[in-house]
Amino acid sequence: SWVRICSRLKGEVGDVEYHAWLTKIALGPVDGDEITLLLPTRFLRDWVRSQYGDRLSELWNQEVASIRRVELQVARPGDPVAPGLQLDESPALSAQQNIVPPESDESSSRPAPEAKSDIAAILDGRFTFDTFVVGKPNEFAYACARRVAEKPSSVGFNPLFLYGGVGLGKTHLMHSIGAELLQRGNVSVAYMSAEKFMYRFIAAIRSQSTMEFKEQLRSVDVLMIDDLQFLIGKDNTQEEFFHTFNALVDAGRQIIVSADKSPSDLSGLEDRLRTRLGCGMVADIHATTFELRISILESKAAASGVIVPTKVLEFLAHKITSNVRELEGALNRLIAHANLFGRPVTLEATQDVLHDILKAHDRRVTIEEIQKKVAEHWNIRLTDMSSARRARVVARPRQVAMYLAKQLTSRSLPEIGRKFGNRDHTTVMHAVSRVEEIMACDAAFAEDVELLRRMLES
Ligand code: ADP
Ligand code: MG
Repeated sequence: SWVRICSRLKGEVGDVEYHAWLTKIALGPVDGDEITLLLPTRFLRDWVRSQYGDRLSELWNQEVASIRRVELQVARPGDPVAPGLQLDESPALSAQQNIVPPESDESSSRPAPEAKSDIAAILDGRFTFDTFVVGKPNEFAYACARRVAEKPSSVGFNPLFLYGGVGLGKTHLMHSIGAELLQRGNVSVAYMSAEKFMYRFIAAIRSQSTMEFKEQLRSVDVLMIDDLQFLIGKDNTQEEFFHTFNALVDAGRQIIVSADKSPSDLSGLEDRLRTRLGCGMVADIHATTFELRISILESKAAASGVIVPTKVLEFLAHKITSNVRELEGALNRLIAHANLFGRPVTLEATQDVLHDILKAHDRRVTIEEIQKKVAEHWNIRLTDMSSARRARVVARPRQVAMYLAKQLTSRSLPEIGRKFGNRDHTTVMHAVSRVEEIMACDAAFAEDVELLRRMLES
């Protein structure tokens, strides 16, 4: 049934893909040999159809032999849905709500997924050392992770404490360690987020199985707890973790922990826990550099098979600086569009497709600021930025300002045109290419423009 299909798909496509696309599917009606699956938007429907359509049909047919066709539709409120299923009002249909098998008698005989108590690591197959791009900001953490994966529990590396900001690769490194250990075999590895740890612990208390839970935890060779900062303020769970931690380290097992801050900065954790956490190896992952962001983008673009021009990669690395997850998300969206519409990736298309993301990451340079700086630089009146005067002394700076507006903001050509006395977007386009031409053959001019750019960017 649907639950099994979902879990097989999840195994095949990986967690991230699965959550991005497939949890959005709701079951629709069955009509003869055809089942309808509903998606919240057209884009999602097209994407799921192109990427997973055939596979979905195959899986359905294997599960329910009478079903021969899968129809993908955009959900509308009031669409007929299978018995026992409700179409949520909100566009973000959650996985839990939708993964309900249509046959209700079947569901009662199967334990809910959460009730499963084994703690074996569930790892995302894409997070391996091979796919981790190493650069200055993360090379130390990477080296430590590799070392622990090769020789768990060696002196000085236990516990391994990885910390850094959101989306800088902590989880990726932990999964990599897990994958490496499991590949070599003969070790039991447990991985869970601190949040999951807490919920398991609470569930164990409820079902009066804390002994089993503790036993399980203390029987692993390597225990990884992700995002430990979650335990701040959760005193009982901290206490439990502390005991497990001590028991494991004393028994010579490896502990790996991640958090968003160093042990000493995790105020709100008990002192004795912080002390013990800092006893092994503490490695921080620093914010990415431009070079690292470019390398990561290059590697992910290459893996996708879609050709992404260097100019686009540089543009993204320049615009999205805060975390790799967002950078990756932006690139994935570009790639999805390229695949979906079969169009090459260009800078123009990028600005279009990523409009919302780029807006959020705008360096907050406004067109007005650009106009002001440029006018000052060439000593013309600010009003001439929007005036109709065509004399070169004002026309050239105006073109430079348009060029910089295009480079430094995520405004579209028509938007930029409007700010320059309601000019047409073709005028802006012309200005941009004219400035590029002149920069290519007039070094002094190019230097001026670069200088302005740097002043505006900082
Ligand atoms: P964190 O756990 O620190 O918040 P993640 O490990 O979840 O961050 O990383 C966020 C995303 O960025 C993941 O998809 C991960 O694969 C990717 N990522 C982060 N750092 C790198 C890197 N150095 N090389 C390749 N991918 C990376
Ligand atoms: Mg993480």
